[in-house]
Amino acid sequence: MTGAGVPSDGGGRERAGPGGVADKPPTGLAFETRAIHAGQPPDPSTGAVVTPIFQTSTFAQSEVGATQAYEYSRSANPTRTALETCLADLEGTTHGAAFASGLAAEDAVFRCLEPGDHVIVGDELYGGTYRLLDRVHSLTGLEFTPVALHDPERVAAAWRPSTRMVWMETPSNPQLHVTDIASLAAVAHHRGALVVVDNTFATPYLQRPVDRGADIVVHSTTKYLGGHSDVVGGFVATSHPAVAERITFLQNATGAVPGPFDCFLVLRGIKTLPVRMDRHCHNAAAVADVLVDHPAVERVYFPGLPDHPGHATAATQMRDFGGMVSFTVRGGEAAAVAVANSTRIFTLAESLGAVESLIDHPHRMTHASVVDSPLAVDPALLRLSVGLEHATDLIDDLCQALGAAPA
Ligand code: PLP
Repeated sequence: MTGAGVPSDGGGRERAGPGGVADKPPTGLAFETRAIHAGQPPDPSTGAVVTPIFQTSTFAQSEVGATQAYEYSRSANPTRTALETCLADLEGTTHGAAFASGLAAEDAVFRCLEPGDHVIVGDELYGGTYRLLDRVHSLTGLEFTPVALHDPERVAAAWRPSTRMVWMETPSNPQLHVTDIASLAAVAHHRGALVVVDNTFATPYLQRPVDRGADIVVHSTTKYLGGHSDVVGGFVATSHPAVAERITFLQNATGAVPGPFDCFLVLRGIKTLPVRMDRHCHNAAAVADVLVDHPAVERVYFPGLPDHPGHATAATQMRDFGGMVSFTVRGGEAAAVAVANSTRIFTLAESLGAVESLIDHPHRMTHASVVDSPLAVDPALLRLSVGLEHATDLIDDLCQALGAAPA
């Protein structure tokens, strides 16, 4: 699919920006323009400038079997098509499929594999992704191994003849590990495996995994793409014909699709994605700079910091370093919980990527499902989703909360 009514770059490579990501394609329109227009020409029947919410379950047939463009909204719906066209365009893929949540999208990707197949996954993942593998797909014969993906020797040691997929989050949740997509894709393709990147933290504005060799991109659109903490959704983008066919089949066959209003909300969020991401990145960098020097903070995880192990890779494959910052506090779990309970502007809540700043204690919240696994998270860790409030207010809030922590 390409953006209806908007000349697209056709999923091709764009001129690299400061961080290696596209500013403007050599032909076609820039990201900012496509975020607003791709897949969303004015409605042909009314001229409505905004894609309507086609809140209908079914579509009339003129005679038995004579369907028009649409038939039934589980299979396809015009508002969903607009979202699928737009986001596939932004990810540079030929195909996009929207799902009811990020985990529903991930589930569809794992269902592309067969019992007995093996997946190498990063050793840091969203807790729900690990749970999906460990407690759902492994029961039907899918095998997986968490590996530190930055280490080629450990990746080689984990490889099996049955390895069919490498799955990474970069930056990862919650400690923002960065994986070199191009290097890992070269290894995986040499060995005949598909490469999947969960691009939720970076978004296509900061990072385009398919330009670096990824075969499949997944999203929790609940996060930066929706951007306003008011919708749950997921997405799969790919140009791999067999994967695209299977994902479309699964979308209809398992039915984990988003409703038209949810698609509308994600589409509306995407229109402002570039300006929001610029501010998220700016505020996160300001927060990280202050945390680094704070006496109550032990270690800061932010790819923009020069001493972050993935800094050089992030600088190559990302336009900027993102809006997420994690840190450990001195005083362990009790101190971390006290800080999380003491912020006034940062809201204590799961999720991320929206206009309002959120604080999360991964060990007890988002990553509780990995507590007894190899992916367990340091109980002293806090994760910040740095929002769009004024950076000074955010920094003041964190400093007063850190002052409340027991030493
Ligand atoms: N991927 C990442 C990186 C996440 O952080 C999350 C949720 O936090 C998901 C996937 C799952 O998305 P959803 O909550 O929309 O199912």
